[in-house]
Amino acid sequence: MKSSLIAACGMNCGICYAYLREKNKCPGCRLFDAQEPVSIVWCKIRNCELIKKGKVKFCFECDSFACKRLKQLDKRYRTKYNMSEIDNLEYIRKNGIRKFVENEKIRWSCSECGGTINVHKGSCFNCGKKE
Ligand code: SF4
Ligand code: SF4
Ligand SMILES: [Zn+2]
Repeated sequence: MKSSLIAACGMNCGICYAYLREKNKCPGCRLFDAQEPVSIVWCKIRNCELIKKGKVKFCFECDSFACKRLKQLDKRYRTKYNMSEIDNLEYIRKNGIRKFVENEKIRWSCSECGGTINVHKGSCFNCGKKE
């Protein structure tokens, strides 16, 4: 898990199913090449022009923060996956990306095998243990 995996919207791509899977793997939002045939199933923010053109590194730098699109994403993740992109962003703004990544390593590591917990399935990607 590294800082290049933390997307502009506050999502940690390292815990995304599309990143963890073997086939048709997504390299993560910041490393995504538009030419690659990856299906971005979970991403709605990727198409924001400000992000695409590199005008903002994180959404909190944007004048429209938090915009409707980001709020919708955040709501979906709060209800379905028990995490919040906006909370992540607030934390990064306050404490910096390094501290955030350190915490994420602990938060999403399986207590059974140390593997990565997949946020979309709510279980360890390695051993399948439910969190
Ligand atoms: S699908 Fe989206 S959240 Fe998942 S790894 Fe790719 S860019 Fe990141
Ligand atoms: S907060 Fe700003 S940078 Fe982020 S998705 Fe919305 S408009 Fe784009
Ligand atoms: Zn495990």
